[in-house]
Amino acid sequence: MTALLDLTEQLVDIASESHHEGAIADFVVQYLAPFGHLEVIRVNHNVVAKTAGDDAQRIIIGGHLDTVPRHPGQVTRREGDLLFGLGTADMKSSLAIMLELATILEVPASPVTYVFYACEEVGRAHSGLNDLFAVPNLVKGEVALLLEPTAGGVEAGCQGTLRLAVSFGGVRAHTARPFRGVNAIHRMAQALAAVAQVQPEPVVIDGLIYAEQLQVVSVSGGVAGNVVPDEASFAVNYRFAPSTSLADAEQWVRSLIEPFVDETQGDTINLQDGAGGAMPQLTDPVIAKLVAMSTGQPTAKVGWTDCATFFERGIPACNFGPGDPLLAHHPDEHVNAKTLDASYDVLFTLLSEAAR
Ligand SMILES: [Zn+2]
Repeated sequence: MTALLDLTEQLVDIASESHHEGAIADFVVQYLAPFGHLEVIRVNHNVVAKTAGDDAQRIIIGGHLDTVPRHPGQVTRREGDLLFGLGTADMKSSLAIMLELATILEVPASPVTYVFYACEEVGRAHSGLNDLFAVPNLVKGEVALLLEPTAGGVEAGCQGTLRLAVSFGGVRAHTARPFRGVNAIHRMAQALAAVAQVQPEPVVIDGLIYAEQLQVVSVSGGVAGNVVPDEASFAVNYRFAPSTSLADAEQWVRSLIEPFVDETQGDTINLQDGAGGAMPQLTDPVIAKLVAMSTGQPTAKVGWTDCATFFERGIPACNFGPGDPLLAHHPDEHVNAKTLDASYDVLFTLLSEAAR
């Protein structure tokens, strides 16, 4: 169905870098407004479209409207079955599927809520889902399917993530007389080495392997070329399995660093950002059916997605979309019409037939 690829291209042509989703939200509202079977509600630059029915067995289909910034020279173009351009994989092809399903499925087997939201690609505090969950009873359901790029397979749950900032103190001195000072960078080096040598063990949940990762992501320090530095800092990012809480994950990273930290020298460890993950919940009947219908075995989601946002509200969620996750945010980003159509067919069937 080239219609889906055409619709994807239309959406790609509407620039929607994070914080600039007004035009694409306008498009979504105008696209859905003529369909009387949908209740369409706009909250800021987020759009919710609901079919009739109660919320107990409601299926939520979610997709973000925003993209990361455009790569220089990245243009939209067709090459046979492929559509290249910013957001083709992450995730305007998915938005096209949502628009198509919303308009065609007048009476789905279970009620459906389509959630188009802003600011997913930036800090969690900006997410349009916050605006939507702030409206009582607007987004409710028994399960959520996020159409993040998964190349047509189910990527279950998601990892948690946290970032700790660690700073070390010292005493300034002339580098010709370093014994007069305390070198903060030298002190920090021991902690860096300890973190760098850690290889977290993979965690297996429901047969899925959640590989954990611990990476130092920035360092800073130094005063001048002839000064023993009195301040140095680094930040470390930990991607952890969803079976570990944010508090436990933070405690574990702290335990690696604390042996090198001395509060009397002004050293500090601070949590800058963090969010727990989402358990895979493959036994949920809708997720189980989606797994059975999709290609290949389910895998663990690498990275954090809004599955966690739904999970923390007691709503099981998984990731399923046509885009290739390896192409997300990549200058060569594209989507394949065949995968697009196949993902659409799976979701159409899932929503048309009784899911349980
Ligand atoms: Zn995305």
